[in-house]
Amino acid sequence: MMKTTSNPSAVIIYSGGSDSYTLLHYLRAQKYRIDRALSFNYGQRHKKELQFAAAECKRLNIPHTILDLRMLGDLVGASSSLVKSADSPEVPHGFYAAENMKLTVVPNRNMVMLSLATAYAAAHKIDVVAYGAHAGDHDIYPDCREEFIAAMAHAISLCDWTPPRLIAPFHDRTKASIYSWGLWSYGLDYSRAWTCYEGKQLACGQCGSCVERLHAFAQIHGTDPLKYADRDYWRTVVPGDAQ
Ligand SMILES: [Zn+2]
Repeated sequence: MMKTTSNPSAVIIYSGGSDSYTLLHYLRAQKYRIDRALSFNYGQRHKKELQFAAAECKRLNIPHTILDLRMLGDLVGASSSLVKSADSPEVPHGFYAAENMKLTVVPNRNMVMLSLATAYAAAHKIDVVAYGAHAGDHDIYPDCREEFIAAMAHAISLCDWTPPRLIAPFHDRTKASIYSWGLWSYGLDYSRAWTCYEGKQLACGQCGSCVERLHAFAQIHGTDPLKYADRDYWRTVVPGDAQ
């Protein structure tokens, strides 16, 4: 797709979770023209995030593609609780920065997704590739750290004659800071973003992702409109000095 306006064009990696949901709206607020949102089916335990991503893109009339990356799930299944496989571990419950949360890492997921998004962007002359890495991810997810982002940005700048630019606007912001912008500056409805690692009817409230989300909402004195099976569990596992 060729550029049709002077606004910079973007392809966004959009999981359907709350960070990429906020990023999608942040890019719109920054006057990016979102050429396409890319979601990835890597064999995750459930499809709820992908369904939330599809629904929001449809609501906003943003072209959306779900790429089939199930072979990634096949490759790493036994190591990650986020992948649905006979030998993958259960989703851990508890504090999101705890050591056992490393079970939720899908090895090298971001590099794979960024590479594919970059291929799309280069082929279609898109100006930027955007993804929602943020400072709160640094402990558990190496592929959200500054060093990784800088290295990927450099590699992407070398990959094509007219390469896109990698942006991660939330790289130095906490989850609470991201929600603060979304909720208080932009009035986002977070019931349109699914974060829970489980795929049940209600968000579980106990997985690391739910605990982190509910904790972040509490930090900004906001109320998460998503429905939870257990809305108070997080208080029992987040250390007092983090509350
Ligand atoms: Zn959960």
